[in-house]
Amino acid sequence: MTHVFHRHLRHAPKLAVAASGMTFRDAEGREYLDASGGAAVSSLGHGHPDVIAAMHAQIDKLAYAHTSFFTSEPAERLADELIRTAPQGMSHVYLVSGGSEAVEAALKMARQYFVEIGQPQRTHFIARRQSYHGNTLGALAVGGNAWRRAPFAPILVPATHVSPCYPYREQRVDETPEQYGRRLADELEAAILGQGPDSVIAFVAETVGGATAGVLTPVPGYFKAVREVCDRYGVLLILDEVMCGMGRTGTLYACEREGVVPDLATIAKGLGGGYQPIGAVLAQGKIVDAMSRGSGFFQHGHTYIGHPVACAAALAVQRVIHRDGLLAKVRSDGEAFGAMLREALGAHPNVGDIRGRGFFWGVELVSERASKAPFDPALNLHVRIKKEAMAQGLLCYPFGGTVDGKLGDHVLLAPPFIASRGDLREIAARLASSIDAVVRGATTS
Ligand code: PMP
Repeated sequence: MTHVFHRHLRHAPKLAVAASGMTFRDAEGREYLDASGGAAVSSLGHGHPDVIAAMHAQIDKLAYAHTSFFTSEPAERLADELIRTAPQGMSHVYLVSGGSEAVEAALKMARQYFVEIGQPQRTHFIARRQSYHGNTLGALAVGGNAWRRAPFAPILVPATHVSPCYPYREQRVDETPEQYGRRLADELEAAILGQGPDSVIAFVAETVGGATAGVLTPVPGYFKAVREVCDRYGVLLILDEVMCGMGRTGTLYACEREGVVPDLATIAKGLGGGYQPIGAVLAQGKIVDAMSRGSGFFQHGHTYIGHPVACAAALAVQRVIHRDGLLAKVRSDGEAFGAMLREALGAHPNVGDIRGRGFFWGVELVSERASKAPFDPALNLHVRIKKEAMAQGLLCYPFGGTVDGKLGDHVLLAPPFIASRGDLREIAARLASSIDAVVRGATTS
């Protein structure tokens, strides 16, 4: 009997034994083409020799140093590299071990910032519905996915949720994308005023939504309008780039395309590319200054923050991305991938929307295109698609469950940046065939 906790739960995973490049192998010898990089993690694919060599070299030299005693060369170099390539204004890096940890640290940093500058009455966060920021209690509090929050709702810190930027379902037919973005920013402003502007710490949002609503790319101007609203009331802007950052959308940070600089940004997943667990918070100087002039410390810290081997792996991932021109590749091949998905799935009567940017795409399924009605959640379509895709040798990342009575089933695609055009074509073909097989079965049974 296995003692691994999650193998005793519903939808127990298979046993993986090896992975190389774009391909996974399980214990039964089956191979799978990786179209999701796990959950948008494996940006360089599997077994990349440069990252493995960097980790080996670091383990031989210094495997671990507790940050209350030491920083390390790879941590210093990684922080320098991240700031060198970050949007102008970001100046400091706080290294953690994953995405939820990064969000948790950012929320606490934002709160402590206001305590340090004499505004301790700011205690409230505003975030968005249909969002995901992680599974720790603070991250769940700002997350806007009702079913994930439900069991824990009574013990979460206070947060208000406003509308996400979700044009497929929420942009009115009589408004332009710009007007829609403006309306959403007005809604945020109303929420801040309703809460009392002096009591709001921060607005938290994924720059490009991922794990709840199947890749939500913002309409042009939305984040600029949001930034203006935040500035008007001294509210910090925290952008969660755990999934969409680190090149996933074709720029290192997704907010580069939106022309905004957040006060705090969170990154993880693609930062270590899956080779090591690592995440980070990038902060503007005023946050660190407030702490260094005030109490002199950040009331936080986990045992493995700034782990030297994780930092060495992340630094190697960064170097490969730049050396191999992968951002430009993701931009151009990403457009081609979108076209392939549209060709393979665009005419399917149950595909409502195909949206994305770079190597980050979502396919939203509907029971009927005209009404955009989701499938009955009891059909568990997303679970069946994941299973069918695996049977067809494809790893994709379907989500489901109606959220706020709207969102139904959708599939997230986040292939490694090394995917060839042939791989991308194969992904589109296998996904179309898997969706079709499942939807046919579900609608005729
Ligand atoms: N924020 C976002 C936007 C995410 O997509 C995720 C993970 N899906 C997290 C935070 C949490 O990251 P982790 O699972 O590494 O804790």
